[in-house]
This record gives sequence, C-alpha cells and structure tokens, in this order.
Amino acid sequence: MRQADVVIAGGGLVGASLALALAQTGLDIVVVEASSAATTEPASFDERHTALAPASRRFFEALGAWPAMAPRANPLHEIRVSDQGRFGFMRMRASEEGLPALGWVVPNHVIGAALTPLLAAAPSVTRYQPAHVTAVMPDDTGVTVLVDGAASETMIRAQLLVVAEGAGSPTRAALGIGQRERSYHQSAIVAKVATERHHEGCAWERFGRQGPLAVLPAEDGVSLVWAMSPERAQAMRAATDAEFLEVLQEQFGHRLGRLQAVGQRHLYPLSALAAERVVGRRAVVVGNAAHTLHPVAGQGLNLSLRDIATLAECLADAREHDIGAPALLHDYAARRRRDYQRVFGFTDLLVRGFSNALPGVSAARDVALLGLDAIPPLRRELVQRAMGRHGWLPRLMRGIDLTERSET
Ligand SMILES: Cc1cc2nc3c(=O)[nH]c(=O)nc-3n(C[C@H](O)[C@H](O)[C@H](O)COP(=O)(O)OP(=O)(O)OC[C@H]3O[C@@H](n4cnc5c(N)ncnc54)[C@H](O)[C@@H]3O)c2cc1C
Repeated sequence: MRQADVVIAGGGLVGASLALALAQTGLDIVVVEASSAATTEPASFDERHTALAPASRRFFEALGAWPAMAPRANPLHEIRVSDQGRFGFMRMRASEEGLPALGWVVPNHVIGAALTPLLAAAPSVTRYQPAHVTAVMPDDTGVTVLVDGAASETMIRAQLLVVAEGAGSPTRAALGIGQRERSYHQSAIVAKVATERHHEGCAWERFGRQGPLAVLPAEDGVSLVWAMSPERAQAMRAATDAEFLEVLQEQFGHRLGRLQAVGQRHLYPLSALAAERVVGRRAVVVGNAAHTLHPVAGQGLNLSLRDIATLAECLADAREHDIGAPALLHDYAARRRRDYQRVFGFTDLLVRGFSNALPGVSAARDVALLGLDAIPPLRRELVQRAMGRHGWLPRLMRGIDLTERSET
C-alpha cells in the first residue's frame, strides 16, 4: 500500500491548482485524474475563457504559474453592464478604482498548460492519469483510497482525501454527501468571435430577453458566454455561421462594429449545484464538486481558488499534526461559508433578476443600474464584490507563499 499525506481526486482547474499550492508545504500529494494525458487534455482545460480576479492572479503568482499565463492574459480595463431594449446601464472602470485592471481573461487551456509542467516538476506530487477512485474507506486515523489506473489498481493510505472531480462527482456521492440542485433551464454557448473593432480591454454583460450574454476580451476578437434556453442553444449551435452572427449582432448591437466570424461553438448545461456539506470524514469537497455556479458573474473558479487557498493554508499550518482531524476540517468549512453564501446570492440574483421581463421588474433594474452607475460608493461596493475582495483573504491570495506559518 502506498502512503501519502493528501489524495486529490480530480486534476482539473481546481485539483491541479490545489496540488501545486500544497507542493509548497512539503506534504506528499497524490493526484488522480480521469482523463488521458496522452490523447486529450482534461475537459477542465478547454476552450473556455476565464475572467480571473486580481486575487486569483496573485494566487497563481504565488504558485509560480502566472508568468506562463501572462502573455495570453487579456486585462479587463472596463466592464459595461446593460439590459437589452432598456435604458439601464452601468460601467466599472479599473482607472476609477485605482487599479491596473479589474481582472484578466485567460483561456482555460492556457491555465492548464501553465500548471501541468510545474506539477510534473514538483517532487512531492505524484499523478495517476488516466485513473479514477473506485473506493474510499475513511476511519479515525486516515483514509484508504482504491485507485483504478489503465494498467493496475493501487491502494493509497492518506491522512486526507480532497474531492475535486467536478459536478456529478462519484467520490462525493460515495462519501455519502448529497447535493442540491437549482435548475435555471439554461445552457451556455461558448465561442470565439472576430469583430470589426478591437475590444480595448472592455467586457460587456448584456442581459437579453433570452438570457445573459457575456462578451470577454480575447486574442483576435472576443470570447462569448451566451446563456439561453437549452432548446434555443441547440438550435443556435446548429445554425449556420451567418445565422448565428445575425442573432448575436441583434442582441449585442454594434459596439464592436460588425461581427465578422464565429469559431467552434461549445454547449454547457447550466444549473447551480451545492454539496450538502463540504467536509466529511477525512474528506473535503472543493471546486464544482462542492458548488457549481451559473457563469453569468464569472465567479465559480475565483470562489474555488479562495476555497483551496484557504484549505492549503489550514493544511500547511497543521502539517506537523493530523491534517485530516475533524476540528481542522470544520474550521475550514466555517471559514468558507460566508464567502460562498455571498457569491451564490449575488450570482443567483443576477440570473433571476435579469431573466424577468415583467414591466415593474425591468423598470426596477433600470433604476438599480443607473443608481449603481451614478453613486460611486455603491459602484465601488459592487466592484469589490465582483472582484472577490470582500473580507479576509488567505495568504496565497495576498501573494504570500506557504513556507511561513500564518499569523492570522
Ligand atoms: C461557460 C462557463 C464559463 C465560465 N467562466 C468563468 C469565469 O469567467 N470565471 C470564473 O471564476 N469561473 C468561470 N466558470 C466556472 C469554472 O469553469 C469552474 O469553476 C471550474 O471549471 C471548476 O473546476 P473543477 O476543477 O472544480 O471542475 P472541472 O473543471 O469539472 O474538473 C474536474 C476534473 O476532474 C476530473 N474527473 C472527473 N471525474 C473524475 C473521477 N471519477 N476520477 C478522477 N478524476 C475525475 C475531470 O477529468 C476534470 O479534469 C465558468 C464555467 C462555465 C461553464
């Protein structure tokens, strides 16, 4: 039986980032990732573009991964929020907040390409790939994990199991941790679009009758996340490029001139999922396995990075003791509860509030957007929330590595 300190089930955006954070602590880490390294990249590291908040950038800087992402990261200088067919409008500008950028937009496969070689070079990290966890047996002193790989089965004894398998995680279910689901009856189309004019570092959040449309600055154009009913999303994916661009142009307008070409379209079903608990016996659930959010506010990964930066800090500070002890795990869960509630509440309000076409609700939205635009303290509060700067931040998100002990 192989011995380890931590087994991480799932080596996607969240699992791989956590492994790299824990590599700083000297703990012995095993990552079990289902997808095949040789043939396809994990689905986590796909064509989507993620808007990383400044604290998430600091996290990747502390991990040494940012230099490889920086050349492909598009800074967000401005975000404009509007309601299609209404006059409500608000704008957030980095310059008004005294910041170099409100965030950075990075393709997921670029994040993967930055993390993968660092993980491969980390002496305290072992990867089993392609492999998956087939059984977990927690007890008072540790957890035994059975891993099924391409050629053989391995039994690993660890102090702690971290589940980062994404939504629908089988290991979360095997631990007896259920999940709640809120369906929005929406799917997102993700695609790159070439535009006549350059985006100049501006992102648009445009709420339409069919659902929200996020347009993010990207290399050679913009990256779309366009939410709509699942039936319409299927039809829009199947539409010709010309038909797709015509409907998109109607919802987005001519802010970037003529929309010239669209790349491959990918479909993501959307719902909000939440694990009933984020800790179990000798286990922690993180990332989409713990909470999956609607992408409208671009908060899912940023929230998960705050989770794992906090978890890594808790484990680093307890590394000479039992890192799977119930008190430590419950302390971690308690530290993270409020941030999740705040982000979920904010995201859910946006999806529901802006999907409602009743005249009274639309007028209230106009007033809310114009009020936010006109009143700097309110706008600043929103910017702080959107950037995940509310409340306490773990050391890695302040750019401090884990080799030193916490004073907080
Ligand atoms: C359209 C869209 C746009 C988004 N935009 C943003 C954004 O701008 N900003 C933001 O903060 N967030 C954004 N998000 C959210 C973000 O993508 C998620 O938070 C993130 O992907 C979660 O990563 P994860 O590693 O938890 O899960 P996943 O990405 O699902 O990765 C799970 C990993 O586990 C592996 N796995 C699965 N099952 C097993 C198993 N049994 N054994 C071993 N391995 C397994 C998979 O192969 C995969 O590598 C967006 C989401 C969507 C859908």
